[in-house]
Formats: sequence, structure tokens, C-alpha cells
Amino acid sequence: MALTMSIKLTQIKLRELFDGYENSDEDGVIGYHGRLDIRPKYQREFIYGEKEQIAVIDTIKQGFPLNTMYWAVARNDKGEKILDAEGNETYELMDGQQRTISICEFLANHIVVNFQKFFNIQRSTPDIAEKILDYELQVYICDGSVSDKLAWFKTINIAGKPLTEQELLNAQYVGEWLTKAKEFFSKTNCNAAELMVIRGKKASDYMTGSPIRQDYLSTVLQWIADNQGLTPRSEQGDTYMANHQGDETASEIKNYYNSVMEWIGSKFKVYRKEMKGLPWGYWYNKYQRNELANSIIMKNADEIEVEIQRLIDDDEVGSVKGIYEYIIDGQEKHLSLRTFDDKIKRKIYEKQQHRCPYCDNSIGGYTYPNGKEEYEYGEMEGDHIVPWSQGGKTEENNCQMLCKWHNGHKSDN
Ligand SMILES: [Zn+2]
Repeated sequence: MALTMSIKLTQIKLRELFDGYENSDEDGVIGYHGRLDIRPKYQREFIYGEKEQIAVIDTIKQGFPLNTMYWAVARNDKGEKILDAEGNETYELMDGQQRTISICEFLANHIVVNFQKFFNIQRSTPDIAEKILDYELQVYICDGSVSDKLAWFKTINIAGKPLTEQELLNAQYVGEWLTKAKEFFSKTNCNAAELMVIRGKKASDYMTGSPIRQDYLSTVLQWIADNQGLTPRSEQGDTYMANHQGDETASEIKNYYNSVMEWIGSKFKVYRKEMKGLPWGYWYNKYQRNELANSIIMKNADEIEVEIQRLIDDDEVGSVKGIYEYIIDGQEKHLSLRTFDDKIKRKIYEKQQHRCPYCDNSIGGYTYPNGKEEYEYGEMEGDHIVPWSQGGKTEENNCQMLCKWHNGHKSDN
């Protein structure tokens, strides 16, 4: 996309930036005589750590330059400039939010650096305080259409903590739908995190990542796009947002998410920590599409819990997390079943005189085209004579050594 916007470099003193500074946390932050929206809709929430804040302030105190920041001239949907009460241009901060807030919070006496708040410096060394207020930020002020601006915003996404894919998407699909979706999915203690799933367990116990870094929104967008069969997969979230950007509400995705959580609660009555971060939405979609017809998940919650207990108690099963996948699709590979150790395999290898019983006897109708009479140890694998699904254990008397080809083609594997 061509960038047709105008860009000019300007210097902004900290005293100007700080004039009119107001921080209402996630509801908005303004500065620069009230003319700069420091946290516009498409910007991420404040995530700077204390160390990083102090590093910014130290840089300023020592008079070293900070990286250039980017502001954009604020325009409405019709492309008209948004002016303040005195008719001045207003701006949105495109890049540099975290540095800007760190600076302003310091000047507002909310951050302590080297045991000093800013007013301590003003009192003890006023000349240094004045120098700090006269420090000049290098700011590029960009002006152009919304799409130009957002394309530019993507390209300047370089310094500091990189924006997540979802934060970039949010920049592209600003609108009422996004505002509503973010209220639900993207705030600390938002409904999407606090929703009760079973007694004492909230949705955040089943989801990973952080709402304010947009992890919930990103995950659920993928899920609902899959539910609606949107393709291609890599752009699913993108497509869903494009389809709904103009919606007045985000009810559809909120209701969908509620249904997923309700479904989890109806199927799993006991919570285990391994349940956090599983691909619940994809599983719910498969369940809805009737693709899990022969799986344990079709049973009721009591029966499912009995199965889970049985699998946890089974010493052959190595992965608790995998148990949930197994409950969903019935594939043994998720269970990390025990395998024979080297000592046992070595013993059986010698006992079989380096032969593969299947190559010898052509059991099961397979014939290995290059079957050998005798194999190297490394050419063979340990196999359960009675498989796990039929109660077979990982013990010496249940071990046979097969050539790799036969082990891979054994019918009950
Ligand atoms: Zn063989």
C-alpha cells in the first residue's frame, strides 16, 4: 500500500507534553494541552515494567535522546480534522505510548527514581528540574487517511515490545464492534476472564495469555472463525473482524464464547490445572459438527470423569494434558504411553536372536520386501504384544522386538 501521508519532524518539550496530562487508566489518557490522545483505540494497553520506566526517565535526566515518537493528526470518519475548543489540531499517539506515559507519570510524581519523585528534584535542584521540563522529544507528526495512517502504523511497529498480531488487527478494524469486543475480552478482570465455568473456577482458568495483550480476543476470533468455516485459516481472525467491523454490538462472539465455556462446564465437572490453555473452542466446534461421535466426550460429565480418573491412575499413561485430547478424539498418541527401556529391549533382542518374528512367520499378512533374517539392534523397535488398549503393560513378558517396518504396520497400533 502506498503511503501518501505527509510527515513532519517536530520538537515537543516535556513541559508541553505534560500540560493537561490526565490518566484515567484503561478509559483513556491525554496530554499536550489536552490535544494528544495518548492511548487511542488502536493502541495497546500500558505494559511497561518499572525497570523500563526508570530507564526512560534516566535517559531524559542525562539529556540523552530517546527514539523518535509518532503522532497522527486526528481526523474523523469523513476525513475532517478533529479540533479542540480553540480550533487547534488534535493528535493521536501512534508509537511511543509507553515512553510517553512513563515520562508523564514521573512528572505527575507517581514514579520514584533514585529515591526521588519529581517534586523532590524541583525542591532540591530546581535547575535540573527545569532542564528536564525543557527536554525535547523528537516527534514525527503524520497526517493522512485512516488507511494510510494504519499502514504507516504497521510499518513503524519496530521499537520496544513488538505489537502482537492481534494488536495490529485492532489497528485496522477500529469501530463499534471492536470497542464492544474489547470491553468483554481485553480488559483486566473483563467478563471473558471472570465468567464462572464450574464452582470456584473461572474462564481465566481455562484460557492462557493476557486479556490486555489481546490474547483472549485473538484466540476466540480463531475459534469462532473456525466455527463459521471461514478460510483461509491463517487469516480467519482477520476475516471475521472484517465481516463485523461495522456491527453495533459484539453479541455474536460474546454468545459464542459463553457457549464454549458452558459446554466445558457441562462436560468436565472437576478442574485440573492441565485444562488451562487447551484448544477448547476447536473442540467445541468439532463437537457441534458431530465429528466426535465415537469419543468419550459424547458421554455425560459423570462418565467422563470416571474415564479421566481411570487414565490418571493408569501408570502406562504419561501425560495428563494428553488425557483431555484423548477424551476428545480417542487417539492414543496423545497419552504418551510408556515405552520399553533399553535394558528390556536388549534382552528380548538377544532372546529372539536378532530376528523379527513377523519377518520370519509372515504374521498378519504383511511381508517386508527387504526382510532380513537378522537385524541390527538399531533396526528394531520394542512392541507391546498385548496393546495398551487391551490391558497390555510395559513389562518384559509383554515385549517383542519387531523390525521397524513391521512395527509401523502392526494392525492394532
Ligand atoms: Zn519384520
